[in-house]
Amino acid sequence: MIKYQKTKTLVTKDNNNSANCIAPNLIYGCFGGCVDTYCYMSRYNGHRVFVNENVNEIFESVVEWEKSYTKVPDQQDPIYTMVDVACNTDLVLMQRHVPGGLINYLKMYDDHSQLNTTMATKYPKLLKLDVNHFNKPPRVRVSLMPQKYSNVLEPNMQLIGSRISDVKRLQELGWEVHLNYSPLVFYPGWKEEYDELFAEVKAAVKDDIKCEVIALTNHRNQMARASPEAYELMKRSYEIKNSSGVMRYPLQHKSRLLAEFKLLYANYFKLNTIRYIF
Ligand code: SF4
Repeated sequence: MIKYQKTKTLVTKDNNNSANCIAPNLIYGCFGGCVDTYCYMSRYNGHRVFVNENVNEIFESVVEWEKSYTKVPDQQDPIYTMVDVACNTDLVLMQRHVPGGLINYLKMYDDHSQLNTTMATKYPKLLKLDVNHFNKPPRVRVSLMPQKYSNVLEPNMQLIGSRISDVKRLQELGWEVHLNYSPLVFYPGWKEEYDELFAEVKAAVKDDIKCEVIALTNHRNQMARASPEAYELMKRSYEIKNSSGVMRYPLQHKSRLLAEFKLLYANYFKLNTIRYIF
């Protein structure tokens, strides 16, 4: 069930990963198949979905934040200040439920001289917005993982091969498409799985497509809800990282595993197409 409200949490937050900042939530919550496995948002929210109707105030919060921000060329973007507008949901839910329409919300940023938008999706086939008339292409990050892991961690979501084949269509609709190999799953046999995935991506997209990579993290709230199969795939990410109980792959293994991931990636793509990895 969706609850419509006006958010009072009009705070734009600094970010240094996918974006330069994260806009206040227009939507908080999701119906994705990963809600009971690795989703950060669901750690504290579970299955609730809130739609915030004060769109103009949310946008104004970002505009105010930008006034005291100095953009320098960085991995997020060489020119524009990137705003993650769908941090706690999937873009496709934004497309369906943003009051006034997602395209009008994105155009507000497009009409700003410095701001641009970025958002992630695991349902690229449902994204139909043509943004060819925009001043600067908004960015969509298509999330990928080996199909074998997706079957368990993201049940009933768009198949990985189908997501890959949507990249070209979205580029033709005017989007800047990046890939998002997150969460990166280390499990016995992972190299063979990712090798197969990279080969599939290589055959379908230009090799200068950019990507971001975040190794799987975990939380006891998620482990409590995970299916036995998901639990098995996630349990190696168990080292407590901070006081809120977030867990990661043990550092003594993680840096080696990330180096091995990069070596594998470099067999197919230029290493400098990885915007960030951790
Ligand atoms: S699609 Fe994203 S926001 Fe939705 S449940 Fe999955 S990880 Fe969470």
